[in-house]
Amino acid sequence: MSTPTRPLSTWAKNIAPSPTLAVDAKAKALLAAGEDVCGFAAGEPDFDTPEHIKEACIAALKSGKTKYAPTPGIQPLREAIAADYAARAGLNVTPAQVVVSPGGKFSCYLAIMAVCSPGDEVIVPAPYWVSYPEMVKLAGAAPKVVLADDSTGFRVTAAQVEAAVTPKTKLLILNSPSNPTGAVYTRAELESIMAVALKHNLYVMSDEIYEHLIYDGAKHVSPATFSKETEARTITVSGFSKPYAMTGWRLGTLVAPGPIAKAAAEIQSQTSSNATTFAQYGALAALTEKEKTKASVEAMMTAFDRRRKYLHAELNKIPGVSCLLAQGAFYLFPNISKFGLTSEDFCNKLLDQQKVAAVFGSAFGAEGYLRLSYATSDEIIKKGVQRLAAFCASLKH
Ligand SMILES: *Cc1c(COP(=O)(O)O)cnc(C)c1O
Repeated sequence: MSTPTRPLSTWAKNIAPSPTLAVDAKAKALLAAGEDVCGFAAGEPDFDTPEHIKEACIAALKSGKTKYAPTPGIQPLREAIAADYAARAGLNVTPAQVVVSPGGKFSCYLAIMAVCSPGDEVIVPAPYWVSYPEMVKLAGAAPKVVLADDSTGFRVTAAQVEAAVTPKTKLLILNSPSNPTGAVYTRAELESIMAVALKHNLYVMSDEIYEHLIYDGAKHVSPATFSKETEARTITVSGFSKPYAMTGWRLGTLVAPGPIAKAAAEIQSQTSSNATTFAQYGALAALTEKEKTKASVEAMMTAFDRRRKYLHAELNKIPGVSCLLAQGAFYLFPNISKFGLTSEDFCNKLLDQQKVAAVFGSAFGAEGYLRLSYATSDEIIKKGVQRLAAFCASLKH
């Protein structure tokens, strides 16, 4: 094939492909080649989508729900999302404030594109989800990273956010529970961070895709719910992938004040048009057949919680490794800085030598850590952590 004669776009040259998807793809390729790989890289539940959700989708498909849907989503689903939000968070959300998109990831992109212009700055707390800085750059804006390490539970403070604000700051990104650390912010912490957003008139994108995946009795809080003022500046992003094991369905949500939701829908109308029509009927069943959904979420959470505790205990037994017990999502983020390797080197060697796939902390803006997903079987976790221990023992620290 011939090489293009003109340079590609600035966006194409500047974007870094998702390292989490890349590591996971490498692990899956090794598995397919017959290697015995323990994969901790995937950011998705190892459970299948609950049966009642699949059935509702199949019924929709069979009854001809195969045409374009309204851009912001089918009306009953937007109503169900608004009602669910109102019931859980006490927010008076109307369906007009809801956009259903092809994935939580695309919802984040719509939110960023709706409020950011070239030249704007966006505060991104690190360790961050890999896509945030890249999406900010795709909007022509500049990410301003604020790092919180394990000494503060990977949670940035209001003072750190305040120190990062400049006259150009337009948006603050929040993600609690967090990917990659599993950190859950307290209400008091979020309230003081939101006070900074109010003081400097910032928009806030709150990515709450892990809102249902919380342990130890911790409480999820939505910053939009604090006051009329926080509601007026907050874009809440979530989706079906993580709580209902629906990653392949590509269904995300965005809830925002009317004009922002309208702008997001208009961007969607010129990009993806709408989320897959029959998939939206499956999502509707997830929200309306509440008892069945609750039972499957609980079964998944029981397994996640067991694995979380086991993995955490085993990691802390490894000399040189220390790991916080995260209260949300399905990740642990152990500190491996004592081994004197970059996290990327550490992960490459770990995969080569012990066939254990993990994502390096630097991918998330935090050198010296690994991200391990425990959304995989108990058996793989047990075998994988033994191999990790053997690998660590082979290194000097
Ligand atoms: C998985 C994830 C998403 C969105 O996932 P989709 O599959 O696109 O719905 C958004 N934010 C974070 C932090 C995630 O981990």
